[in-house]
Amino acid sequence: MKLTKSKNLYSIAKRYIPGGVNSPVRAFKSVGGSPIFIKKASGSRIYDIDGNEYIDYVLSWGPMILGHSHPKVVKALKRAVEKGTSYGAPTGLEIELARMVTKAIPSIEMVRMVNSGTEATMSAIRVARGYTGRDKIIKFEGCYHGHADGLLVKAGSGATTFGVPDSPGVPKDYARNTINLPFNNIRAVKKTLDKAGNSVACVIIEPVVGNMGCILPGDGFLQELRVVTKKYGIILIFDEVMTGFRVAHGGAQELYRIKPDMTCLGKIIGGGLPVGAYGGRKEIMMQVSPEGPVYQAGTLSGNPLAMTAGIETLKILSKIGIYEKLERRAEQLEKGIKDASKKAGVKTYFSRVGSMFCTYFTEQEVWDYRSAKMSDTKKFSKFFRLMLVRGINLAPSQFEAGFLSTAHTPSDIDMTVKAARESFKLL
Ligand SMILES: *Cc1c(COP(=O)(O)O)cnc(C)c1O
Repeated sequence: MKLTKSKNLYSIAKRYIPGGVNSPVRAFKSVGGSPIFIKKASGSRIYDIDGNEYIDYVLSWGPMILGHSHPKVVKALKRAVEKGTSYGAPTGLEIELARMVTKAIPSIEMVRMVNSGTEATMSAIRVARGYTGRDKIIKFEGCYHGHADGLLVKAGSGATTFGVPDSPGVPKDYARNTINLPFNNIRAVKKTLDKAGNSVACVIIEPVVGNMGCILPGDGFLQELRVVTKKYGIILIFDEVMTGFRVAHGGAQELYRIKPDMTCLGKIIGGGLPVGAYGGRKEIMMQVSPEGPVYQAGTLSGNPLAMTAGIETLKILSKIGIYEKLERRAEQLEKGIKDASKKAGVKTYFSRVGSMFCTYFTEQEVWDYRSAKMSDTKKFSKFFRLMLVRGINLAPSQFEAGFLSTAHTPSDIDMTVKAARESFKLL
């Protein structure tokens, strides 16, 4: 496989852009080598500038659930672009997308559009703080909620240690308000709330964690979280930026039957354009400016092109049978990968919810950050490279979820499993 042009562009990119990329994981740092530069993408396929073709399981890190350049989305966008690209004034498109979102996710009674998942989570937290008049927030180790200051905090050594900043530039005073707890550990939550419950504004969580691979909530964990947050008057925020319209039409909250107070969305609802959204109970969302005192704004928020791509995408996703189809494809992939690793004698743990999955290179069950970290990342890196040269584009990190789209065919899956069979044997 030739990657001459990609390597060349990467060295030029590094001169002008820090690390050559506009988002860190794209740089292939954790798997080694240089990133492939993309020329175009269509359906389940993505093409690099050296002319290599790949079956894509990154799907722009989640948004492209219909596959790349879906004809209906492209057609609607072409029509929309002729009418102007941004107005800075309201349009009917914003109402349409807001209606679709509130219909699919009933816990969202009102919603505000923003431009990224990061904006959605940081704004939701501000609203939760404004509403409750409390400062502290609880998040879980290994959950990613974008790159806002107070969210870039991992746990210290103890489970209930108050936050230490994870990145230079995050003020200690800010990070101190973030409490980090182990995922799937309701006892740690209860213990913390026993002490600090009345100073906690919100608990923010990825109900299915997609940012340390793919980790499922244990039996009753989300249910208990709902009960205990209610007890202390704490806002429960589901960060469904990845899982919304992915693991089910109504997101993880539909799947696990939980009603959070607030929900963050992004990725799929923008159909590949930059979008985020946060919403929830009306009483809480009425705090948002100009209705209420909590300020939040955006020059390009509710952008007509982004709304159009989102509306077209959600229209298709509301058709009957879409998620069943994704489930069938994902089952085929799961079975194939599991068989292939078993036959090659490679220890793996495959986890999946709907069309979101991860193959960990460990035999143990993965249920939190610590168990995810048990994975053999060297083996993953090797597997990643072996798959890439066989035309399979996986996320260049063990701790990212893989995704399927409605454009992936059974024969795409067969080809992927064949590549996996060869790759596992060579590990
Ligand atoms: C991607 C993601 C974000 C951040 O969204 P951006 O659009 O990258 O800012 C936040 N939360 C979760 C769960 C995500 O997967």
